[in-house]
Amino acid sequence: MATAENKPQTSNQNSDVTAVVAKLSERFQDRCSTSKALREQHGHTTTWLKNQPPDAVVFAQSTEEVAEIVRLCAAHKVPIIPFGTGSSLEGHVNAPLGGVSIDLSRMNNILEVNPEDLDCRVEAGVTRKQLNSYIRDTGLFFPIDPGADASIGGMAATRASGTNAVRYGTMKDAVLGLTVVTPDGRIIRTGGRAKKSSAGYDLTRLYVGSEGTLGVITELTVRLHGQPEAISGGVCPFPDVTAACNAVIATIQMGIPVARIELLDSLQVRACNTYSKLDLAETPTLFLEFHGSDAGVREQSEMFSAIAEEYGGGPFQWATAAEERTKLWTARHDAYWAGKTLNPDAEIMVTDVCVPISRLAECVTLTAEDIQAEGFLAPIVGHVGDGNFHVQILVDLNDPEEVRKTEAFVERLSLRAIDMGGTCTGEHGVGQGKQKYLRREHGEALDVMRAVKQALDPDNVMNPGKILPQS
Ligand SMILES: Cc1cc2nc3c(=O)[nH]c(=O)nc-3n(C[C@H](O)[C@H](O)[C@H](O)COP(=O)(O)OP(=O)(O)OC[C@H]3O[C@@H](n4cnc5c(N)ncnc54)[C@H](O)[C@@H]3O)c2cc1C
Repeated sequence: MATAENKPQTSNQNSDVTAVVAKLSERFQDRCSTSKALREQHGHTTTWLKNQPPDAVVFAQSTEEVAEIVRLCAAHKVPIIPFGTGSSLEGHVNAPLGGVSIDLSRMNNILEVNPEDLDCRVEAGVTRKQLNSYIRDTGLFFPIDPGADASIGGMAATRASGTNAVRYGTMKDAVLGLTVVTPDGRIIRTGGRAKKSSAGYDLTRLYVGSEGTLGVITELTVRLHGQPEAISGGVCPFPDVTAACNAVIATIQMGIPVARIELLDSLQVRACNTYSKLDLAETPTLFLEFHGSDAGVREQSEMFSAIAEEYGGGPFQWATAAEERTKLWTARHDAYWAGKTLNPDAEIMVTDVCVPISRLAECVTLTAEDIQAEGFLAPIVGHVGDGNFHVQILVDLNDPEEVRKTEAFVERLSLRAIDMGGTCTGEHGVGQGKQKYLRREHGEALDVMRAVKQALDPDNVMNPGKILPQS
């Protein structure tokens, strides 16, 4: 939803979009489109935020083509919005000032896989599922798994994570190096394949999480991991969310190397039962997975079971067969779509926060109480091993009072997380939706972020109106 806070910082009144689009059409022919449907599909489509389509969409096929498009747009100060699969949740791909969406989905080549070094180099449009199916026979896997089959470029741009992050880290840990087209059209390479480096500023980390506001990522070198020798997992019910979160805190504090530990509150379990044909008890539930040797996973799961019992949870129900585990984790990844079915007529407002693990139970409990007090239909689900959780509120957009109450709730939740030493977004990113909380979270560091943006993109052509609030 467009608010005063997410209006772009500068306006591109002088931009000559028409001339630029004409040149792009001539150069890229049917790979440049101004069709309304395609433009709308390249604006924000996932949540209740308003769709703001670009003026044109260009499907790039190489780094050089991206540089050519960027140089042309930059010369005319026309906004550029990089586009992966459009699965982001905070209005990231919207074009509030119009401009050109550069769709990277046709840059989907896997350029090299180096099993001996546990890394690979891919074009930005490769999706996480495509990469994993390509490398399956090498015995390696790429662990970062947002619920959507997002592009690796988009995942780097949003610093994404997922259910495996508690064990394998987020995109900040996965990305070793990048090829980037800068806002003035230069092609630069950051990082490399060495496991560590002390050579200069860490531009790779600067670009990871920059949401397309500092350049277009065209290639990435990412870290891979060996497929575990043994996997075990299952589900564990708890009497309430506080008990479930306390069990998570104890598990993490004891150093049990869980591969996945996810919370679904009772409403989310109900939604998943219906949507994914599960038959779980409708009570707060942890989904777990352990990776390691046979002996290792047995030991980890026994330690977890003892903790769960201490907090009134259990019995732990094992999913021993691989198909059973796949069914559970597919249901977890589909939690967002499942939540939507709770009221198909409502729009979805989804938000994520992250707190230090010791504050998890307190933050989730206060949030659950807040949801109850407001009478929202709003499941809670989360990558709780990282202290990260999501709330998906089903809202009637025709009811201004409900919209106001929802916005106020999201503000309370974001400030609660920040005040607990956490963040207003653990993985979804800022986009348009979370800009207003950055001053509270970062203080003067926000001005340093602005200085970086100003230095690299003085004309504000790269994805304007995202991340940095107006004041
Ligand atoms: C059902 C569902 C579940 C989800 N679950 C999770 C989850 O568990 N964890 C999580 O982290 N996220 C999750 N998300 C959010 C989303 O999948 C991630 O934000 C993802 O990283 C976005 O990737 P994308 O390819 O769709 O990027 P887009 O949505 O296309 O773009 C996102 C942002 O990155 C920029 N961008 C895209 N490609 C590039 C590029 N090549 N160079 C520079 N900038 C670029 C865009 O300009 C935009 O600002 C979920 C979304 C859905 C719909």
